[in-house]
Amino acid sequence: MKLTEILGQNRLTLSFEVFPPKTDTSFDSVRCATEEIARLHPAFMSVTYGAGGGTSRYTLEIAKNIWQRHGVPTLAHLTCVSSTRGTVRQKIADMREAGIENVMALRGDLTPELEQSDRSGWTYRHAVDLIRELRESGADFCIGGACYPEIHPESRNQAEDIRYLKEKVDAGCSFLTTQMFFDNNLLYNFLYKIREAGITVPVIPGIMPITNASYLDRAIRLSGSFMPQRFKSLVDRFGSSPAAMKQAGIAYATDQIIDLFANGITNVHVYSMNKPDVAAQIQANLSDVLG
Ligand code: FAD
Repeated sequence: MKLTEILGQNRLTLSFEVFPPKTDTSFDSVRCATEEIARLHPAFMSVTYGAGGGTSRYTLEIAKNIWQRHGVPTLAHLTCVSSTRGTVRQKIADMREAGIENVMALRGDLTPELEQSDRSGWTYRHAVDLIRELRESGADFCIGGACYPEIHPESRNQAEDIRYLKEKVDAGCSFLTTQMFFDNNLLYNFLYKIREAGITVPVIPGIMPITNASYLDRAIRLSGSFMPQRFKSLVDRFGSSPAAMKQAGIAYATDQIIDLFANGITNVHVYSMNKPDVAAQIQANLSDVLG
């Protein structure tokens, strides 16, 4: 089922993100966790993709399993950074064979090694190149792209970031999913600006429930997200108690989601990170709001 159909239904829904195993030995435990999340019947589930390609096979296996065994539509991520045309075309063929209908087309992060390498010969420099390749493949994929309410860390300014975002959408993105953010006003400002720039596709806000203080530093470093004082106080007060931090982090994320729904958003994507208990708790907190 295409995500555009789901997003067009105008119901208040959640979707969840999971990541594939990095090794054969962890495959079963990851599959079990993703199946537990699938049993919550979210609107859809996305399955991430390792930038180095190490987990690409598992991305498809996990996505296929969720759809075939639980009937939950899936969104398979695909990155292109430093890949050859042959490799990317093979991945696209694998996706078609696996019956994947929805693809999140990403560039992938530039590792320090990639940043220092000679990029002149790269076929895919940006996500837009992958979006064009997916469109040219002839497969009828529903394609999504990433967007950044607080601008991408490599961008010089928001106007430039939004110009390139428009290029991605014009190349064939049917929806966008945002980077995590902890202050909803950042999203509302961003939506205003992109609508003004002529980007009209659905935007799915991505919310990360911070349930573990030690994960916070890494998450902030990778995303560059702004931490509002209200959130900092919560981490200062509860960060040293894992159970309290988990409860407070879930409550904060729930609060953000309720505010998003109240302000016209219909689907929120939760970065639930293979944690069925976190996904289930957020869903339970919203049981009378969803649907
Ligand atoms: P791009 O759209 O290519 O943008 C990257 C930078 O280049 C931006 O600064 C942009 O303004 C600029 N730019 C874009 N087009 C052009 C152009 N034509 N010319 C010049 N500059 C341009 N990473 C993974 O490895 N696996 C995943 O599964 C994954 N999932 C993600 C899901 C979401 C919702 C998000 C927000 C991120 C995800 N990432 C994932 C991380 C992502 O790969 C990084 O944020 C990466 O640095 C940028 O990817 P992008 O697709 O946004 O790149």
